[in-house]
Amino acid sequence: MIKLNLYNTLQRRLSIFQPIDKKNVKIYACGPTVYDFIHIGNARPLVVFDVLVRLLRIIYPKVTYVRNITDIDDKINKRAIEKNINILELTNETIKIFHKDAHALGNLKPDFEPKATDHIPEMIEMIETLISNGFAYVSSGNVLFAVEKYESYGALSGRSLDDMISGSRVEVAEYKKNPGDFILWKPSSDQLPGWDSPWGRGRPGWHIECSAMSKKYLGSQFDIHAGGLDLIFPHHENEIAQSCCANESDIMANYWLHNGYVTSDGEKMSKSLGNFATINNLLLNFRGEAIRYALIQAHYRAPLSFKQKSLDKATKSLSRLYRAIEGFEVNDGQDTQIIDYLCDDLNSPKALARLHYLADEANKGSKECAQRLKNSSKILGILCNSTEEWFKFRESSSNKSFDNSTITEKEIDELIIKRKVAKENKEYEKADQIREQLLEKNIQLEDKPDRTVWRRH
Ligand SMILES: [Zn+2]
Repeated sequence: MIKLNLYNTLQRRLSIFQPIDKKNVKIYACGPTVYDFIHIGNARPLVVFDVLVRLLRIIYPKVTYVRNITDIDDKINKRAIEKNINILELTNETIKIFHKDAHALGNLKPDFEPKATDHIPEMIEMIETLISNGFAYVSSGNVLFAVEKYESYGALSGRSLDDMISGSRVEVAEYKKNPGDFILWKPSSDQLPGWDSPWGRGRPGWHIECSAMSKKYLGSQFDIHAGGLDLIFPHHENEIAQSCCANESDIMANYWLHNGYVTSDGEKMSKSLGNFATINNLLLNFRGEAIRYALIQAHYRAPLSFKQKSLDKATKSLSRLYRAIEGFEVNDGQDTQIIDYLCDDLNSPKALARLHYLADEANKGSKECAQRLKNSSKILGILCNSTEEWFKFRESSSNKSFDNSTITEKEIDELIIKRKVAKENKEYEKADQIREQLLEKNIQLEDKPDRTVWRRH
């Protein structure tokens, strides 16, 4: 059996992964709050935990992967008012673009993608349990979780309640018994989204959705809970408190995995800094696969410094790998070394280096290495296209050498047909002219026995 070593934030150390049920490994990752395009910082957990799921699927017969969508949130309400649109219109449109972005980045679809607004009854039920068990209380129309009642509160983040209060990480409010207490349910005005509840018309606090939805799809105890570093406190800390107290359980998830920040010029990438690059925008100039490659070039727990240049470099690296497998027929054959690297706490930089080693060998003519390169790349979610498709894409527009290649695929195909007709009529000079004309646009033709293929170069 392959041994998978993972860094568990809860234990602050690496440990060998042992699933609760080897026949069905269960993983939950916190998904997006849908009020705006996702940026490169949001894309990182999507990609690195997608790699983890792909790896788990190689080791175990079944993996159930849940990633939620937060579609009720004060940021959503605020943005809908700013844009003067209906909340549902905003969330539906944002979800559509999110799915498009996630797909372009080469991510597999999660097995379940529950939306918070579809699970209000489950949340209300959990809150009622917390009140009846003495862990939550009602105050001025709000329902709050009483952090002092849960002994292990702070275990994940390693913070004491005093730290949290002095660090102003919690909001002090009159209706709270303890400043660390957090909202499970709050009242809604008529203008804001709301649902009937035993505590009046209102809406859930942020954290309760993940406790309710992970329980519904994965049970009260599951294997891995993943998300970005910024979710450790308060989000994940509060999820654990809610779930353990409502389910009368010692654990919510056995392994807590967190990816590092993406930084730009040394600052954390966040919307408030205004230095973010949205995936939607980056996809205008770069392939999703190149963005993905750039995101897995660093170890997932390390900070990742993002520059536009990283995408140019990633594109070149991918071109090199695609060239190495060109012309080889690909059958079976996995590279165990790559699996070993990934089993070492998802060491994707080492796995990528190994791919380039296999490319070297393939370039020297090794068919076996070319096959291993093609097949093993799939665990990282790269090299999933054909070489032909990859080279058809016009690379970064920031790269000036491509500026004169403003020719569409349709125009190229039409010229190829014209050239074919010319050759059939033995008008070789005309055929050569078409080849030259395309070369000027950086389009290289290659005649195969049955057809002519092209690539940008
Ligand atoms: Zn969550």
